[in-house]
Amino acid sequence: MIAMEDQDPALGDVDIMICGFPGKSVCHGGLGWSTVAMIRAEGRTALVDAGNFGMRKLILEQLSGRGLAPADVTDLLLTHSHYDHSVNWTLFRHARIVVGAAEMEWALQVPWGETPVPELYVRALDDWSTCEKVADGATVFPGMTAHVAPGHTPGCLVFHWRTPQRDYIFTGDAAKNRAELVSRDTDMTYDAAVSRRSIEMIWSLWRQRAGTVVVPGHDLPMVLDNGRPRYLGKRRAGIRAWYGRDMQTLIEIDLAS
Ligand SMILES: [Zn+2]
Repeated sequence: MIAMEDQDPALGDVDIMICGFPGKSVCHGGLGWSTVAMIRAEGRTALVDAGNFGMRKLILEQLSGRGLAPADVTDLLLTHSHYDHSVNWTLFRHARIVVGAAEMEWALQVPWGETPVPELYVRALDDWSTCEKVADGATVFPGMTAHVAPGHTPGCLVFHWRTPQRDYIFTGDAAKNRAELVSRDTDMTYDAAVSRRSIEMIWSLWRQRAGTVVVPGHDLPMVLDNGRPRYLGKRRAGIRAWYGRDMQTLIEIDLAS
């Protein structure tokens, strides 16, 4: 999470409500610490992705810290169907909910219980009246184009948002973090070559305009400095654990460095 006052000015109009983390757990499967970002334009308030179950209380706190309630969110733009990005659509069920048409088609057919797709939430979303399934090239928010960027999932969307001040690219898990962007290698891909092409597409958008900010699915936002990604903001991540014999003794494990 980036406190609003700590936000780097180069980030401009994107408000990172929860900042994703570029890591995996060692013994407990996926962490699912993903980015939830807020943007506003023309009287609308959108979220890019909705986080995972564990973030529900935090999302409510983050909204309330901005004087907002879930009902104030007019648009929810989902990069893909994985639980750590999509499952809280139910909190924003009144909003227009954008998801890739190809993503939904795929997500509805995955074998139950075997993937990070929350099968029943995806089924309910498919039937939901405000769900808008979009194709490659669709305009999904004022100034924002959705690009299909397969590899992590077949219908992952990358959102390219052009504002008068600067451009933004929300990469979701098509490029989860800086290491994937720089190396073009990916973790959790069904086809490394397909993922690589999607990352090259992100790079070509990134280089189009100086000052363009990339907001990945699981990392700090970045800008290019002499062609190299520079992080905006400071990483914060940690765990508090009861390793003692009473509830008062909590040790804090810093994961940020
Ligand atoms: Zn994912």
